[in-house]
Amino acid sequence: MPDSASPSSSSAEDGPRARVRFWGTRGTCASPGPRTVRYGGNTPCVEVRANGGPTLVLDAGTGIRALGQHLQSRLKATPVPDMPASNPGPQDQAIHLFLTHRHADHVMGLPHFAPLHSRSRSVHVRCGDGDCPTLTQFVSSLVSPPLFPYVDGLAGQLLVHEWPTGEVSVGTFRVHRFNANHPGGAAIIRVDDATGPIMAYAPDNELALHATQAEHVEWLAGLRDFLNGVPLLVHDAMYRPDELTRHAGWGHSSDMEAVQLAMDCGVQTLALFHHHPDRDDDAIERIVDEARHHLLERKSPLRTLAAWEGLTLSV
Ligand SMILES: [Zn+2]
Ligand SMILES: [Zn+2]
Repeated sequence: MPDSASPSSSSAEDGPRARVRFWGTRGTCASPGPRTVRYGGNTPCVEVRANGGPTLVLDAGTGIRALGQHLQSRLKATPVPDMPASNPGPQDQAIHLFLTHRHADHVMGLPHFAPLHSRSRSVHVRCGDGDCPTLTQFVSSLVSPPLFPYVDGLAGQLLVHEWPTGEVSVGTFRVHRFNANHPGGAAIIRVDDATGPIMAYAPDNELALHATQAEHVEWLAGLRDFLNGVPLLVHDAMYRPDELTRHAGWGHSSDMEAVQLAMDCGVQTLALFHHHPDRDDDAIERIVDEARHHLLERKSPLRTLAAWEGLTLSV
């Protein structure tokens, strides 16, 4: 597999509008080991970065630990002369973390996110499934005893914000949300810039494409509108098609449902995501082969891959 790829809606003259890097691609439970080395065993975390712009982090699964180390090393690589580390200044770079929801696989890496332990950073947190007072308590509990040892000064780096339905502006980005079909609620996140949509992220979402209830059909139509024309879609592909029936209502989709949705919405690149913890690397590669064969038969221009840790896509 290559280290990076370009889906992409950018032209060579303009350069990419943003880079999307995967730090954790596994769903439900971290699954490190020799059978998952190619696609990775860490749970969801995706970085979205514009040239010279803010850093967006989507979810705080165990993949966020390596992202935090990377962000801190990048700070050290560009020191500001005569600027003490305790004095926020030009090197102070805010990080905006958007949690799709609070299931354990999407938050369990947060206490180990190195920028939380740096006085030159501030980490702004929003969540797609809850109100602010509850979220503040929840985030504090993650980085406090008994789940985590007391660390002096940590709380000052965490800024919890409300995220009402609608959009949030972060630098050149506008971050939109749409309600996923997932037990307890979750957000589907779309990141736009002034040009339009850049990418959408739906790690936990039960499409149930064959369901016929009017409310569900209406929700699907709204989802297709929300995702229409997105260059890059990162979508839940937890199950194989033959596993769906016995997991109805569990809040996840099959790989082929994700492919169908991406085709319906005119997506350029689909990154299959939230891989089942029992799915080994060979099984994931067979899924990608099947999806590509399906698309070839239908003469679809959709490009499909399975996201792996370390993959960077330029849009
Ligand atoms: Zn999940
Ligand atoms: Zn979930």
